[in-house]
Amino acid sequence: MLDVLVFAPHPDDAELGAGGAIVKAINAGFKVGIIDLTAGEMGSLGTKESRLEEAEAARKVLGAELRQNLGFPDAYLPFEDKKEVILKITNKIREFKPTVVLMPYWEDRHPDHVTTSLTVSEACHFAKLQKIKLDHPKHKVKHMLYYELNNQSKFTFILDISKEFKKKKETIMTYKSQFKEFSMEHLPFPVEERCKFYGSLIKVEYGEAFYMKDPLALKDWSALL
Ligand SMILES: [Zn+2]
Repeated sequence: MLDVLVFAPHPDDAELGAGGAIVKAINAGFKVGIIDLTAGEMGSLGTKESRLEEAEAARKVLGAELRQNLGFPDAYLPFEDKKEVILKITNKIREFKPTVVLMPYWEDRHPDHVTTSLTVSEACHFAKLQKIKLDHPKHKVKHMLYYELNNQSKFTFILDISKEFKKKKETIMTYKSQFKEFSMEHLPFPVEERCKFYGSLIKVEYGEAFYMKDPLALKDWSALL
């Protein structure tokens, strides 16, 4: 059973979009898992094998409970059988029973990112339907959060990741094949700039923006005061 389950289209997307949030959850004692939908084998840099090795190395740096890869074809994800993709993801949600599911923001210039957002979102819905028979019993995800990759819009909230930013950087640098010309001091644009910008909006050093489709319900003033 996991507290937080993060779905990512390609290895390194979880770290780029929500690395600080993942580190923060793990440091607070929550169990976090990451599931990548593809191995990123169509990227200009790296091979399927090297990208899977880097993803596992990043998992160790993060301290995540597990990292799995669903093996869907990189770049061709939007052309895969939608029902098969959704049911495979639904099965994983039911298996790991997360309270919170993270996925990419639904608008993005990369088709794989959009497909991941939409299919994971729909899988969260299917996971709670009793009459859909899969390997595991139904499960209701409490919150669905969307992290940013390429596109920005009006976010729902910003998480302060000032203390976690250094480790987020370390996990990104684990992807040596993707970022070999970069270093801890010189991150790929605009990772650091964007986190600094979001931090500035809430008057801290670094932040990550998240989106929600459903309203966040507050039971009382305690969440605000
Ligand atoms: Zn990606």
